[in-house]
Amino acid sequence: MGDHFQVRDRFASGAQFVDGRARHGGSGRTQTVVNPATGEELLTYPTAGPDDVDDAVAAAHAAFPGWAGATPATRSDALHRFAEILADQAPDFAYAESLQCGKPIKLSTEFDVPGTLDNTAFFAGAARRLEGASAGEYSGDHTSYVRREPIGVVGSVAPWNYPLQMAAWKILPAIAAGNTIVLKPAEITPLTSLMFARAAQEAGLPDGVINIVAGTGPGAGEHLVGHPDVAMVSFTGSTAVGRRVAGIAAAGAKRLHLELGGKAPFVVFDDADLEAAVHGAVAASLINGGQDCTAATRAYVQRPLYDAFVSGVADLMGTVRLGDPFDPATDLGPLVSHAHRDRVAGFVERARGHARVVTGGEAPGGDWSDGAYYRPTLVTGAAQDSEIVQSEIFGPVLTVLPFDTDDEGIRLANDTPYGLAASAWTRDVYRAGRATREIAAGCVWVNDHIPIISEMPHGGFGASGFGKDMSAYSFEEYTQVKHVMYDNTAVVRKDWHRTVFGDRHRP
Ligand code: NAD
Repeated sequence: MGDHFQVRDRFASGAQFVDGRARHGGSGRTQTVVNPATGEELLTYPTAGPDDVDDAVAAAHAAFPGWAGATPATRSDALHRFAEILADQAPDFAYAESLQCGKPIKLSTEFDVPGTLDNTAFFAGAARRLEGASAGEYSGDHTSYVRREPIGVVGSVAPWNYPLQMAAWKILPAIAAGNTIVLKPAEITPLTSLMFARAAQEAGLPDGVINIVAGTGPGAGEHLVGHPDVAMVSFTGSTAVGRRVAGIAAAGAKRLHLELGGKAPFVVFDDADLEAAVHGAVAASLINGGQDCTAATRAYVQRPLYDAFVSGVADLMGTVRLGDPFDPATDLGPLVSHAHRDRVAGFVERARGHARVVTGGEAPGGDWSDGAYYRPTLVTGAAQDSEIVQSEIFGPVLTVLPFDTDDEGIRLANDTPYGLAASAWTRDVYRAGRATREIAAGCVWVNDHIPIISEMPHGGFGASGFGKDMSAYSFEEYTQVKHVMYDNTAVVRKDWHRTVFGDRHRP
């Protein structure tokens, strides 16, 4: 696997995909895609500028009537073929995702790629089950029914942490519902989004339905979300950029879907299975190098279990194998870039003055010094209002704090502006029930933390944004509801005309 995958050859015709054709971006600037495990330059490509965005939006706009007017069965068939082609190309997708992100090959092979295949299959089916509310004679004199209609051209902006899955989460519900789309992937990880669009074309999706513009936020993203022919903006990324994107979308009165940052709490009550909680915390804080918006970041542990939990997590983190992402034995690869690794390290360095770094807190040397590696890191003793507890770090860093009463544990869990995901660890059904009701997050797990499935919605509360990815709920974002009302009476002078004509009304 992988030896045949020559990045420069694959993208020699350009790292843009507009109206079914690869092309070079016209911004006049270039971006280099780097292998974060080695620092090796994989591809330098001309980035998209405003003209590329205009052409992509024009292509999506032109493709919209035909795609929106296709029967659900036609769209579904195309998505089924798309799922088959993605399955054929699965090893290449896994390889490219690990190459550009540095994620362990076992993660891209067992999580990113199968998740995307399952999403594609799910939306192939869901495309035929777009339903409105029941029809009926609610007024007595009319038949009312609801149509769910696509919105138009969707402008999407995606992050670098799961580039393939994020492209899939944005593109699939949008096109299954009959929209067309222009997606801007993160400029440092465009490869698998481009491969995804090319595979869709091989599956027979019409040109213009999926377009990819690879470029920077200021250079291409802002032009896309502000474009007058973009009817809806769907953004996944940080809360700070999301706010900026929201401002641009609001100025154009566009439909908006925001999937933003997270700072997931992991609440361990004193009756929890300690071993399960320790394993869960290490896995859920280190998955994808902690570059996961739902990753466990703040563990709150009830006092009787606190010491054992801290030592258990430290010991288990010590067994995690850092290494070459393409070694099947590697548990933790590098972070996505050297700049991001330095940003993560900065959070830990600033915490040292007031908190204890129990394990990690450094980049490994030796064989791994060229890569953007950072050791699994456990921090205790930080104040609840400190930066390391409150801010999204997006790296392999877990903070642990004790709590005494259940009230306190839940209060602390809710004490950040974010609300994307959380977990509660307990064997008491009433405690679990309370935690699921009272923790304000778009997903609350009980005795687990991380799993997602295509049938269930993903999306945040508060500063984590609004709207849902995946599941039939995502159709709420990508469709608009139309009420159709038919007069059933054939009466010329309707009763309600009295409100205009008064005494002159003659039924
Ligand atoms: P980011 O906000 O820096 O960038 C996200 C995307 O926005 C990139 O494509 C970037 O080029 C683009 N962008 C930057 N400035 C822009 C601008 N002014 N206008 C338009 N687009 C602009 O985020 P990131 O560092 O790529 O990704 C990490 C963030 O994504 C984390 O905060 C993480 O929590 C979040 N995330 C959230 C979810 C979710 O489902 N809620 C999923 C994955 C990642």
